[in-house]
Amino acid sequence: MSTLEQLKEQIRKALPDLDVVIGWEQGYDAMHATPLFIRTEEDIDRLIWSPLCVHSLGTYLTGLTKTPNVRKVGLVVKGCDSRAIVQLTQERMIPRENIVLFGVGCTGCLSHARLEYKVEQGGHYVEDMHSITFNGDKVEVAVNGDVESFDFDTVCLEKCLTCRFPNAIATEHFAGEQVPVAPKCEKAPSLEAFEKLSLEERFAFWQDQMRRCVRCYACRNTCPMCVCRDHCISTSRNPHWVSQETSSAENFMFQMIHTMHLAGRCIECGECQRACPVDLPIMLFRRTMVHAMKDTFGYISGADPEATPPLLTFKVEEDNIKERGW
Ligand code: SF4
Ligand code: SF4
Ligand code: SF4
Repeated sequence: MSTLEQLKEQIRKALPDLDVVIGWEQGYDAMHATPLFIRTEEDIDRLIWSPLCVHSLGTYLTGLTKTPNVRKVGLVVKGCDSRAIVQLTQERMIPRENIVLFGVGCTGCLSHARLEYKVEQGGHYVEDMHSITFNGDKVEVAVNGDVESFDFDTVCLEKCLTCRFPNAIATEHFAGEQVPVAPKCEKAPSLEAFEKLSLEERFAFWQDQMRRCVRCYACRNTCPMCVCRDHCISTSRNPHWVSQETSSAENFMFQMIHTMHLAGRCIECGECQRACPVDLPIMLFRRTMVHAMKDTFGYISGADPEATPPLLTFKVEEDNIKERGW
């Protein structure tokens, strides 16, 4: 039985006790999946599982589990998605007992931006693409009567190249086989390149990039760990902490605050950058913070259900911060 068939079977059995199960279905074209809210047996037939299933569906949970009449929610999760649930549970942001996780092992997800770029480099318009096939480490795209083939590693999301948690953790169900943990590289290539720049060059880079931010807040809204809702510092009017001016400096300030609020919480799902309409490389901020938390506190967000997030602890003398020893 395929992973998808197993997943459907597990959901079919559990559905009578759940109000809704959230997974993915084929979207408006060959390249996109969209979130699917399964409430009936018939809905289950629309479920898909493939590298198109990029959305971190955990972002629905903080709101949905507080909705009246919603008692129990099911969620399909990849490895990175399950880390969001672990982290939110540790922070007591979601009632874990009211959530049922259907886990899968994941070999990577498609980057629409990278695939579009490849297709357009080949002289085609992505709008003319009529099918996409994932075949081992190859992706085959039928466009305008031609079939273009790409290495999956060249069109997958950058986070998948460094993935150390491909298998969903702490789930009630698991469909298919566990996949091997086989990161293609230690550090994201974009962060590796960024760290080679001098401090002056880095600052100039961000000044330039931040000019392009339109403060749409898609990066915030899509983040499974952004939970402040109506009280977000960036949109609150009373008190009015952050200006709405879209200058490079103000946008930089907003992103810095966002990154700080994700310290020890960001699970590197990359949804913030994927959602950005102007393609700002904001994962550089997030990954820098993730590495700092790992180096300083030995903590990887959402990786261990038994761990206590560092910002929920207090130690007068942290193991790796010698405030009094210098
Ligand atoms: S980061 Fe890992 S679990 Fe997440 S989509 Fe990529 S390969 Fe899958
Ligand atoms: S999604 Fe992009 S453009 Fe919108 S606020 Fe975030 S960084 Fe700025
Ligand atoms: S900040 Fe970005 S990468 Fe981190 S959890 Fe939020 S959406 Fe995911």
